[in-house]
Amino acid sequence: MQRIILVRYQEIFLKGLNRPVFEGKLISNIKEALKNTGRFKVIKSQSRIYIEPVDDEFEFEEAVELLPRVFGIASISVVIKVDTDFEIIKNKSFEIVDDLVQRKGYKSFKVESKRGLKSFPRTSPEISSDIGAHILKNTNKLRVDVHNPDFVLYIEVRESTYVYSEIIPANGGLPVGCSGRATLLLSGGIDSPVAGWMIAKRGVEIEAVHFHSYPYTSERAKDKVIKLVKILSQYCKKIKLYIVPFTEIQLELNQKCPQDHLTIIMRRIMMKIAEAISVKDNSKALITGESIGQVASQTMEAIYVTDASVNMPVFRPLIGMDKNEVIEIAKKIGTFETSILPYEDCCTVFVAKHPRTKPKMKEVLSYEAVLDIDKMVEDAIKNVEILNI
Ligand code: ATP
Ligand code: MG
Repeated sequence: MQRIILVRYQEIFLKGLNRPVFEGKLISNIKEALKNTGRFKVIKSQSRIYIEPVDDEFEFEEAVELLPRVFGIASISVVIKVDTDFEIIKNKSFEIVDDLVQRKGYKSFKVESKRGLKSFPRTSPEISSDIGAHILKNTNKLRVDVHNPDFVLYIEVRESTYVYSEIIPANGGLPVGCSGRATLLLSGGIDSPVAGWMIAKRGVEIEAVHFHSYPYTSERAKDKVIKLVKILSQYCKKIKLYIVPFTEIQLELNQKCPQDHLTIIMRRIMMKIAEAISVKDNSKALITGESIGQVASQTMEAIYVTDASVNMPVFRPLIGMDKNEVIEIAKKIGTFETSILPYEDCCTVFVAKHPRTKPKMKEVLSYEAVLDIDKMVEDAIKNVEILNI
């Protein structure tokens, strides 16, 4: 009896895309995600991927936990692989069912079969009813319930036969690397990690930029961002993190700009620095965690003025979401607990008491006229710290 992992992906994605490229990326991302779990073979067959451990050292449970995080995977199952021989399938099916009844106390079931091998001498409904009858004959603890069973025994008859009872849902999406690269403005808050995750889910490779205002923000604030990137990288392969020293810029803005325009001008400069970094790295868009009306700098007017600071597209995947919807995703993906650690962010250090909620482009430009923003961007990039996480 051999336990293997069956990986399903959604074929709907393959229609518009170059299918081998999609599958190749998915397989290489799976190999990357499982690189520390031991030795295994990856077999692609009939729009499925099978992960077969090579020896007993393979960390099976860990692999089952890691795989649903790989974008492009729709679901996985732990399956028992047996020879395609009806007697063997029948006996193994009973063994699996008996084990489930013992461990989980299930009382009802149904069998769902799929015959992928047309030369097999039973049709799919015949396989289901014959296996079901065999199980009922050997136990009095179970009954068949086709509408609402405690569990379903799935039997897929192909070159080999796969028997399993659980389908573990994954996140879907596209394999990271299929859709180019984007640059995430990553604070230590709840929103931006979720925004990065959502764009990565569409197959986009992510790099991150964090603005750090040491010593106004602590080393621990920086560690928190590194930790967030580590969590995100479980979904997105390696992430290049740029840490931009932002203190001097903020002090200068504080001196030269009206208090009620500080945040919006700061935001525009952040965008320009992130744009300069992304151009260098062939990244095609910026990503932020903004949503309409959440804070003063996220009104329609503020977003308009922020957007006007750069030429590249800005993705704001949370734009229409409520905070509690964002929190739900943050919890699901594992960033929430880290995001709520109480360290200062650069935006909270130099924040104005009464920021303008409806900034005007003309006014903002006039306040910026006293600043040498090109020089600010240039210096910021010169002094940036780069970590590969
Ligand atoms: P978040 O939870 O992502 O911090 P927020 O609701 O606190 O968002 P703001 O602080 O106004 O909102 O920030 C809006 C967006 O600006 C963030 O989602 C992020 O993309 C970007 N941003 C804010 N601060 C930083 C920072 N220190 N470094 C990089 N990007 C930042
Ligand atoms: Mg924030």
